[in-house]
Amino acid sequence: MTTPTRPTALVTGASRGIGRGIALALAEAGYDVGVNYASSQQEALEVAKGCRAAGAQAEALPADVGDIPALKGLLAAFLERFGHLDLLVNNAGIGLKVPFLETTEEQYDRVMDVNLRGVFFCTQMAAQAMIARGQGGVIINNTSIHREIQYPNTSVYGPAKAALEKFTRHAALELAPHGIRVNAVAPGATITQEGLDTTPHWRLVRTRIPLGRHGLPEDVAQAVVFLASEQASYITGASLTIDGGAVLPAGLLSPYTPGPEPPPS
Ligand code: NAP
Repeated sequence: MTTPTRPTALVTGASRGIGRGIALALAEAGYDVGVNYASSQQEALEVAKGCRAAGAQAEALPADVGDIPALKGLLAAFLERFGHLDLLVNNAGIGLKVPFLETTEEQYDRVMDVNLRGVFFCTQMAAQAMIARGQGGVIINNTSIHREIQYPNTSVYGPAKAALEKFTRHAALELAPHGIRVNAVAPGATITQEGLDTTPHWRLVRTRIPLGRHGLPEDVAQAVVFLASEQASYITGASLTIDGGAVLPAGLLSPYTPGPEPPPS
């Protein structure tokens, strides 16, 4: 009897935050995991160690996803290490809070390169590898609720995430004949550093979220595990909002009244 091959996943931006949570959850779910990072090597090595503790094979793989030659190197290194690719999670992303009138070309280009251009070409390279293998695959893009809300000073980040969601549907359409599903997760306010939840900013944020709490990396990670699974085999081109209802209140006419601040936990 041969041991079945474990599915493999490449998670970009997995050294910290939501990507770290996704990598660890995928390892728990039975995947071998490539842990991509840009500069936080020590953190990425720790995440890979955590994946191995869950029974997975795991490797920390450096690459700036905003740099196309580096992306090519990342895919090549992943395939050399793991042999094939079943799941790509385009998680890496950078924010930018700058007034529209002050935004520079350099800032615009960097946000677009990492949040959109890199995802476009990483998806293309991953799909080419999946098609060559002939066993389909899954791609999941991490967008944001900023794809639909207009928060001040995010006039590059928001449009980049909106375009990423649209791209998700285009890729889903063109890759469906190859058995490749492409979906998006759209997180709301998600705490990625311990201790932040007690700051005045996050206490205020919580009062504006209908479900009364901020998001955690695990909330997004479990959605990724589901969308990657056979249970989601008929889902493609979808975007799953994971925000505790943050985008539900409809502005001035909203019946939603923020509740009292919950006691500190
Ligand atoms: P984070 O805590 O700042 O972590 C970002 C991760 O991405 C790190 O692992 C970082 O690697 C990596 N990264 C950054 N630039 C990269 C690049 N050019 N190439 C490769 N990796 C890169 O971010 P996060 O809050 O978890 O956000 C992760 C994703 O979720 C992003 O796409 C973000 O837009 C989205 N999102 C976040 C929230 C939220 O509230 N946190 C809400 C909605 C959507 P290094 O450690 O090496 O720098």
